[in-house]
Amino acid sequence: MNIKRKVTKAVKIGNVIIGSGYPIAIQSMTKTDTSDVVRTVKQIRLAQEQGCQIIRVAVKEERAAQAIKKIKQAVDIPIVADIHFDYRLALKAISYGADKIRLNPGNIYKEKEIAQVVSLAKERNIPIRVGVNSGSLRTKSKDNANALVKSALDYIKLLEHHRFRNIVISLKSSSVTETVQANRKISSLVDYPLHLGVTATGLADIGFVKSAICLGLLLSQGIGDTIRVSLTAHPCQEVIAAKKILAALDIDNPIDIIACPTCGRCEVDLVGIVQQIESELKVLKLKSNPKAQPLKVAIMGCVVNGPGEARCADLGIAFGKGFGLFFKNGKPVRKINQKQAANFLVGQIKKRLVNIKAS
Ligand code: SF4
Repeated sequence: MNIKRKVTKAVKIGNVIIGSGYPIAIQSMTKTDTSDVVRTVKQIRLAQEQGCQIIRVAVKEERAAQAIKKIKQAVDIPIVADIHFDYRLALKAISYGADKIRLNPGNIYKEKEIAQVVSLAKERNIPIRVGVNSGSLRTKSKDNANALVKSALDYIKLLEHHRFRNIVISLKSSSVTETVQANRKISSLVDYPLHLGVTATGLADIGFVKSAICLGLLLSQGIGDTIRVSLTAHPCQEVIAAKKILAALDIDNPIDIIACPTCGRCEVDLVGIVQQIESELKVLKLKSNPKAQPLKVAIMGCVVNGPGEARCADLGIAFGKGFGLFFKNGKPVRKINQKQAANFLVGQIKKRLVNIKAS
C-alpha cells in the first residue's frame, strides 16, 4: 500500500496488536444477548470466518460479563466488553477475562469509579477504549466534532493522571463529516491508536456508503488503526464491508480486480465471468502481503479500453467476440476461447501468487 500511516502507539488486544504500523484490524460487534453463549459464539465464529479479528460484545448486566469466560473458551479472537453506565460491569468483565473494555465518557465519568477500572485493567494488562459517541455526549453542542474531541481529551487526561496509557480512542458520530473532522483533529493531537467507524449508519446499503466515504477519507490520509463498519445487519455483513473498504484502498488486499462496467459494445457475459472468477478466488482465502501492492487483474469487455487496462495490469483479458486476448505483464500473449477464459485466468492468478510467495 502507498499510504503513509501515522505512527501510533502499539496496543495489544489479546493476540492482536494494533497501532505502530501493524495491519489495520477488522472488528465487529455481536447482535445477540451476550448471556446466550451458544448464539453469541455462533455469531462470533461466522464473523471470524469472514475475516473478523476482534469482536465486541454488549455487557449490560452481570450475566453478560460472566458469559465472557465461556465465550472465550469457545473462540480464539479477542473479546472486547462494551460497557455503559455501570463501572462495576467493567470490573466484572475484566475479571471474567475480557481482552479490552470500551468505556463511554458520556455515561461513566466519575473519577473514583474510573480509577477502580483503571487499577484492574493495569493489573490484567488490558487496554481501555475511550469510546466517545455523538449520541451520548454529556454536554450538548452545535459543534459536535469538537465536542467529541474535547470529551476524549478530558477522559485521556484522567486516565493518564492515573498513569494509564494502554488506550485506544474512538470518536463516532452518525454524521460522516463530523466523524471525519473529529478524527482528523484527535489524530493531530495524540498518538494513541484510533478505532474508526461511523455510528448508526442504517441498513447495509446506505451504511456501507457512509462508512466507505468516512473510512476512505481517513484511512487514505494514514489515520486509523482498526475499523468497525456499523450496519443494521449481521456482523458478517459488517466484516465483508470492512474488507471491501480496505481492498478499495489497496490495504491488505491480495488481488485488485479491475472490471469494466460493460456497455453495448460488450459481446460476452462479463458479469458472469467476473462473478465466476471472484467466487473461485474467494474459496482460496488468499492472504495479502501488507507491504506489497495487490496483484492487478483486468477483465475488460471489449477492445476500446480493454487492451489499455490489460496492459497496465499484471494479468488481464480484453474480450472480443467469442474470445479473449490474454495479457501478461502488459504484453499480449495469446487468444483464449471465451468459455475457458475464467478458468484460465484463475489458473494464471494461482500460478502468479505461488510465484510471489516463493520469491
Ligand atoms: S471496455 Fe468496452 S465493453 Fe467495457 S465499458 Fe468500455 S467500451 Fe464498454
